Amino acid sequence: QEDIFKNVILHAKEYGYIFPSSEIYDGLSAVYDYAQNGVELKRNIREYWWKSMVQMHENIVGIDASIFMHPTTWKASGHVDAFNDPLIDNKDSKKRYRADVLIEDYCEKLHQKALKEIEKAKKRFGEAFDEAQFIETNPCVVEYYAKKKEILERMARGLDSGDLADVKALIEELEIADPDTGSKNWTEVRQFNLMFGTKLGASTDTAMDLYLRPETAQGIFVNFLNVQKTGRMKIPFGIAQTGKAFRNEIVARQFIFRMREFEQMEMQFFVKPGEEMKYYEYWKDTRLKWHLSLGMGAENYRYHDHEKLAHYANAATDIEFNFPFGFKELEGIHSRMDFDLKAHEQFSGKKLQFFDNETNSSYVPYVVETSVGLDRMFLSIFSKSLQEETLEDGLTRTVLKLPAVLAPTKAAILPLVKKDGLPEIAQEIMEDLKWDFNVAYDEKDAVGRRYRRADALGTPFCITVDHQTLEDKTVTIRHRDTMKQDRVAIVDLRTLINEEVSI
Ligand code: ATP
Repeated sequence: QEDIFKNVILHAKEYGYIFPSSEIYDGLSAVYDYAQNGVELKRNIREYWWKSMVQMHENIVGIDASIFMHPTTWKASGHVDAFNDPLIDNKDSKKRYRADVLIEDYCEKLHQKALKEIEKAKKRFGEAFDEAQFIETNPCVVEYYAKKKEILERMARGLDSGDLADVKALIEELEIADPDTGSKNWTEVRQFNLMFGTKLGASTDTAMDLYLRPETAQGIFVNFLNVQKTGRMKIPFGIAQTGKAFRNEIVARQFIFRMREFEQMEMQFFVKPGEEMKYYEYWKDTRLKWHLSLGMGAENYRYHDHEKLAHYANAATDIEFNFPFGFKELEGIHSRMDFDLKAHEQFSGKKLQFFDNETNSSYVPYVVETSVGLDRMFLSIFSKSLQEETLEDGLTRTVLKLPAVLAPTKAAILPLVKKDGLPEIAQEIMEDLKWDFNVAYDEKDAVGRRYRRADALGTPFCITVDHQTLEDKTVTIRHRDTMKQDRVAIVDLRTLINEEVSI
């Protein structure tokens, strides 16, 4: 698995998807740049999300709020006081970790052990296997799950009450070791705020302390009434936004999974109090279907319903994805009640309420939010799409099976040889198709190598111009995933490609 992940990172660099930031200065930890192909894939994912949220829902509109916000925003949201991670250092390796992540990883191992027992029993009992009953009665599974629950509860108690000594005691009791060196020599646990601070204004005396937003959601909450009034929105309605967010993450070794500067795609759905569970279930279901529509395999997604809820939520789930390093959060869906709007009412002194014409009364709406990381989406799709295939002749090929709708370049146009007028026809085809799609022209190397290059770049179609083209205005179109080639008329190319690449 580690090799797969390394391969993903190497491929992303080699094929112009992702570069380390400021690489000539040896890079900056957990900060990355999207390269010429990466920027297109990222844009297409963003667009795919936007269309499904804003274009396809007549009661959802978008905004683009600023990264800078009035500092009181972050008091009201709770970020100034509570957006902390519990830190722990290993005294020998001098490495820093999130105490909660170390404990959660330990619990994930217990979970995996339980799953193994279940799998074994499934094989043993075949058709007659009653999974639910087995989970409840098998002593090993019961013990693994009970232990996991007890550990997580104890950790949550420690973090909530501020009893960080007990969190450290838990790490020691479980004999959790530094994942890199195996050392168990830990420091105390302490809280660390994840927001980046900066200053607005030129003079040092009057400059205002600001934060770079750690989430896009607050830009939506503070604009709730502006959008509702000017858009004449009726409850239920949603506000969607994509944009950068910044967190001074402690554990930053998972490529673009956990970055210090990243992009979120969030939607806050405002509902009548009491109706939130209906919409929570709707969005839970709708968002998973959206992920599944990309064809990365249903077995690679799972819900992780939160048993322990944050103080602002009455229901929460994560959609987890099977990344090269295991199942991890890809998207969060939370029923946040009126926590945010009420807090902003209190701190701003302004009413943030919806006037219901039918009942002639005002209320603070409840919020159901969906929040997905664009970079994590990118990683999920990129890592699952990257495949090594053994071909019939025994050779292998590297192919990036990106969904055609998201691929940076839709077609590579290749003259079979660099003479006889073939390059000119190929260029004419490119000039024509580029009005509708990103296309690339490639005439260097033997055509087989050019096919391989297009495969590795994730380009779904290769269009080859050969000598027959001169006679009958047809070309071959090669499909990346099946490597099948069809002979088609040049005039039909646009429609054929469109069928595959449009949303
Ligand atoms: P995690 O537990 O992994 O730190 P979180 O629960 O703090 O994530 P949220 O605050 O719910 O995350 O943010 C919503 C989404 O934003 C996440 O599901 C994730 O996809 C994305 N996200 C959060 N932090 C980062 C980060 N540092 N880098 C990239 N994406 C992130």
